[in-house]
Amino acid sequence: MQNNSQFSTLNSQLLYIHIPFCDSKCNYCAFNSYTNINHLKKKYFDAVKKQFLHEIDTNTEFETVFIGGGTPSTMSVDFYEKLFKLISPNIKNAKEITIECNPNTSYEWLKEIKNLGINRISFGVQTFNEEKLKFLNRNHSPTQAVKAIENAKKAGFENINLDLIYSTALDTKKLLTKDLNTAFSLPVTHISAYSLTIEENTKWENDFSKRKYDEELEIWFIEKIKEKFSQYEISNFGKPCLHNLGYWMGKEYFGIGSGAVGFKKWRMENGEWKIERYYTQNSVYEYLKHPTKYKYEYLSDEDIKKEKVFLGLRSIVGFDESILNKEEQKRVEILISENKLFKKENKIYSYDFLLADAITSYILS
Ligand code: SF4
Repeated sequence: MQNNSQFSTLNSQLLYIHIPFCDSKCNYCAFNSYTNINHLKKKYFDAVKKQFLHEIDTNTEFETVFIGGGTPSTMSVDFYEKLFKLISPNIKNAKEITIECNPNTSYEWLKEIKNLGINRISFGVQTFNEEKLKFLNRNHSPTQAVKAIENAKKAGFENINLDLIYSTALDTKKLLTKDLNTAFSLPVTHISAYSLTIEENTKWENDFSKRKYDEELEIWFIEKIKEKFSQYEISNFGKPCLHNLGYWMGKEYFGIGSGAVGFKKWRMENGEWKIERYYTQNSVYEYLKHPTKYKYEYLSDEDIKKEKVFLGLRSIVGFDESILNKEEQKRVEILISENKLFKKENKIYSYDFLLADAITSYILS
């Protein structure tokens, strides 16, 4: 990728920074994360800096920043001081800067991070049940999770998310109710709830006994969360995360760090648009050697249409009816008459985000 931001559709974009370090590996985790490579943290900053300066000029303004992982809270405040010095010319008007944290994070760290300008924090709580935490191989306790959220509030964070995981073999209505009651008693503005998936290259690969397949329980859990926080995407509830909304709206984003993904739209000399997704090196070792080496995926008009429909239907974003052909529009009308979709100002929205997959297939069939 070259720095061709003058060809870009949008002046304002999203920035994602990936921190691939973790203290331990969770049993279900398929993210790009590593343990026992703490000695590479200093070099990692140098690589991030190199990639950032190669791709991003001072005219680029980010409206949101998301620092995800891995576990960003495994990095020292010193790392973030350097990082924010690097990105400060580009985040003057940023509305939202999020960082993901492990619940074993100290008050001092939270306070110092807040002072750098981070205004949204997301805790990987997963559950407040001791046994379930051990089952998942999380390295924090329920007490630490409660304390971390209270400390974040004390440190001045007004936007606090906690992640919960459900559909594990241990889940029951009783356990999940307790989790939600604890979550609701804390000063959180947002909940992300993820159904467990059994992924390749994880400790639980092919071991489906670790998952509970109980659709009634899943729907019940989602409805329980909705009693307190409104759902704006399949897995997200409460005050919307502007960064994630930007993804679903199809905004451009830069991906910085090992295993990060970016999304760019280029206006070619012949006036046509070229849309691509780019992937940095997944291996930290390779990324450290070649931080500006990418793999590319070019997206056709059909790919883009499918993404717009799918992402729009799984969230409050919706999609423009005008992107569909006549046959597809007819199928949308059928779904509207069946009360599965609704139309507002030429945009199509879904009543039930969980049906996004099936409805997208039907519309585009
Ligand atoms: S903390 Fe997150 S990224 Fe790290 S191993 Fe656990 S699930 Fe994966």
